[in-house]
Amino acid sequence: MITQQQVLQALASVMDPDLHRDIVSLGFVKDLRIEGDDVAFTLVLTTPACPVKDQMQQQAEEAVKSLPGVGRVRVEMKSEVRTSLPPSGQSLIPGVRNVVPIGSGKGGVGKSTVSANVAVALARMGARVGLMDADIYGPSIPTILGITDLPERGEHGILPVDAYGVKVISSAFFMKPDQAVVWRGPMLAKMIDQFLGGVEWGELDYLVVAMFRQLKTPILGLIENMSYFVCRHCGERENIFDTGGAQRAAERWDVPLLGKIPLATGIREASDSGRPIVMDDSESAAAFFEIAKNLAAQISIRNMKEENEPALRITS
Ligand code: ADP
Repeated sequence: MITQQQVLQALASVMDPDLHRDIVSLGFVKDLRIEGDDVAFTLVLTTPACPVKDQMQQQAEEAVKSLPGVGRVRVEMKSEVRTSLPPSGQSLIPGVRNVVPIGSGKGGVGKSTVSANVAVALARMGARVGLMDADIYGPSIPTILGITDLPERGEHGILPVDAYGVKVISSAFFMKPDQAVVWRGPMLAKMIDQFLGGVEWGELDYLVVAMFRQLKTPILGLIENMSYFVCRHCGERENIFDTGGAQRAAERWDVPLLGKIPLATGIREASDSGRPIVMDDSESAAAFFEIAKNLAAQISIRNMKEENEPALRITS
């Protein structure tokens, strides 16, 4: 007879390489059933975009199979994205588990391109994702995501527009062409207020926000855009800009480099056509998927750290 304890003991040998703990103590193992020789259980990971999902599934299966007398092993994979907020904490935006700002020190470096593609990549991997484009000087998210509809008003606020499975709100929805220049002071504050409070986001795992100012929040990781050039004809890689800059910055600030995106005509063309590059297979799309996975992993790591270090949590 195989016991639950034996199975859990075997599963405790499987580590989450990002969270540096075993999957049993992390509470990932759910719904464990033993019927005769057969064992079935569910692994509930902290994100559907887990970079090591397949690896953990395989290791868990093998660990249980190695127990003497075990027949079939069935592992079901699910995810439950956690939040950095304490259970009693007030979320900045109700229903939104993680706000993910994407920012840069300067404009025109591809914030909109990166935000849109990372958001769609996360959604394609099964996460519930929102995207808030607060760029008042030239909001381009609606173009990148081919949005032509305007948001409608729901019972409790504005309803975001769905694009490729992402719930989108853009300042472009509230602007007339060439109006950007008047968005100053109190009006700007009111618009941002509306963004934060007046939108019915519903339940979201990640709300991606492209920021037009440098943030004072801890940095989860760095993304290097236009990292290298890929010739569309011969596929050769060429380093146009100084290489290793992002790596050096990541080391200096002690944050991970989430990934590098090539400078590729296809990325711009996809954005201009309203179908982001991550909707189809390509080297560039793979780069965005890798970044989305690494970002999701970093969010899980941060949330887990905060859960375990309540004394260090800043609640103001
Ligand atoms: P920002 O939001 O920081 O102002 P954008 O995302 O609008 O920047 O990007 C500026 C321009 O560069 C756009 O035309 C966009 O299509 C293009 N672009 C951004 N990233 C890449 C890339 N990796 N390869 C090719 N073109 C890119």
